[in-house]
This record gives sequence, C-alpha cells and structure tokens, in this order.
Amino acid sequence: VLLPIGVAMGGFMAAGVVWLSRRRLSLSGELAIAIRNREFCVHYQPLIELRTGRCVGAEALVRWQLADGSYVKPDLFIPVAEETGQIVQITEQVIAAVGRDLGAALAADRTLHVAINLSARDLEGERLLGLLDDLTRRGIEPRQVWLEVTERGFVDDGAPRAWLDKARAAGYVVAIDDFGTGYSSLSYLQKLPIDALKIDKSFVDTVGLETVTACVAPHIIELAKELRFMIVAEGVETQAQADYLLAHGVHYAQGWLYAKAMPVEEFLVFANT
Ligand code: C2E
Ligand code: MG
Ligand code: MG
Ligand code: MG
Repeated sequence: VLLPIGVAMGGFMAAGVVWLSRRRLSLSGELAIAIRNREFCVHYQPLIELRTGRCVGAEALVRWQLADGSYVKPDLFIPVAEETGQIVQITEQVIAAVGRDLGAALAADRTLHVAINLSARDLEGERLLGLLDDLTRRGIEPRQVWLEVTERGFVDDGAPRAWLDKARAAGYVVAIDDFGTGYSSLSYLQKLPIDALKIDKSFVDTVGLETVTACVAPHIIELAKELRFMIVAEGVETQAQADYLLAHGVHYAQGWLYAKAMPVEEFLVFANT
C-alpha cells in the first residue's frame, strides 16, 4: 500500500526539482533581458533620526519595473541574481540611479545620506568603487553614502573584507545589514570594519515584549553603543517600538511607522517636510 505513495512522492519531488531549476534558468534569462533593457529602478525608504523625528536620508531599494508598470520586489530575484553573478550588473544600475535621483539633493544638503545594499559578490575588483567615486563627482561626499552589507559579506578575512577596508578608507560608511540573523557572534562584531549596525526587523518586532527573543535587541544595542557604532533599527512599525528604541539610545529608525519605500519624487517631498 505504501509503495505507490512513495513512488508518487518521488515522482512529485523530482518534478518539483526540475520545475524549480527550469524556472531559475528562465528567471536568469529574463534578468539578462531586464539588465540589457535597464528595467531596474530604485525606490527610497526614509531614514528617521529618532531624537528629532527628522528625515536624514533614505535606503535605496531596487525594483524591477515590468512593462505593465508593476514592480517586482527584490526578494524574488536578488537570490537568483546573486547565484548567477548578475547582481553585479544590477548594482551598477542601482548606483547609477541613485546618482541621477539624489545627486543634486545630497549635494545641496550635507545632512542627508543614502544607503545602498551590496551583495558579497559586489565586493571585489575596482569597478564598483569607481562607480561610487562617480557619485562624488556629482558633488556627493563619500560619508553621505552608506554601504549596507549583510553578515555573509564579512565572512572570513578574504577579498570582501579587503574591499570594505578600501571603501572605508575612501570615506564611505559601511553598515552591517540585518544584524543578528547571520552567523557572527556578538564578540565578533568588534573585529569587523564597520561604522554602523542595522538591527534586523525580527528583533525590532520583539522589543518591549515579554518573549525569549525580546532579550536579544537590548544586548545588540548595548554592545553597539559600547563599540560606538551608529545604530539603525529596521522595520519599525509601532510607536511603542520607536519609543523603546529612542529610550535605549538607538540613533536612526526606518519602517512603515514613518513611510514605505517610494519613488524619488515622493521621497524628495517627504524629506523636505
Ligand atoms: P533590507 O536591506 O533589509 O531592506 C529592508 C526591507 O524591509 C525592504 O524590503 C523594505 O521595504 C522592508 N521594510 C521596511 N520597513 C518595513 C516595515 O516596517 N515592515 C515591513 N514588513 N517591511 C519593511 P524590500 O524593498 O522588498 O527589499 C528586500 C531586500 O532585498 C532588502 O532587505 C535587501 O536585502 C534586498 N535588496 C533591496 N535592494 C537591493 C539592492 O539594490 N541590491 C541588493 N544586493 N539587495 C537589495
Ligand atoms: Mg538594507
Ligand atoms: Mg536590512
Ligand atoms: Mg532585513
């Protein structure tokens, strides 16, 4: 009686694997076309200084704009682009878009900054550093450009670490993204070449609650303060969370409590009000 089920399951799973790899192949094919046609644009999510409530910058979040005007969210294509290496070309388009969109605003207001997400595969060679330097030719100062890298980008002391050291030496601000979700232990933090730490949304979700994971955020915050990092909380959705974070010394916050990611025209209005 069990045999047919096993066979059926095996058949189903094999079909699933084939379906997945075909889909991946076609997604990377579609990405190649999208890269060629420059179908990527950037939406900006405001970053808020908790003490003043002021907008002090934005995180650049890539969007793939389809012909019908709809947007594909990065979680659906970044993993494949990272696997195939296409991420590097997407990052180039993101950096170019940031320059076009925010070059003038950043040059006019030194208190604003923009955060750009980089993947581990971006952290090699001179090309990307050169593109970032093009931003400074638009009158943007390197310290106005934050580079967000997840913990995976920092593993071992290899090429990515050397790349980040070079970027910091040039004046760019390096932030560790989604902190707490990777492998690094808290004690490892002090060895990393970073200026800022972004606390992952999953920990922000728990602050002030009486749950087991609720004790993680205060530890991260205390250590980050001791190491004199700038601290950003991501995914802030409630005023109670914002109050807690401010009271515990977190500097910046980002989340739907303030605003979702938006096209640049809307962001520029938001930043000036
Ligand atoms: P991330 O860097 O951690 O960015 C934050 C994500 O959380 C964004 O999703 C943002 O829209 C979302 N978010 C912000 N505030 C809230 C909130 O209050 N509640 C909830 N539920 N979500 C919130 P998004 O835009 O879909 O980006 C997802 C991820 O894709 C990013 O996570 C980042 O890792 C990656 N990504 C985005 N743009 C780029 C890029 O240009 N290059 C690379 N390599 N990765 C990117
Ligand atoms: Mg990020
Ligand atoms: Mg993040
Ligand atoms: Mg995150």
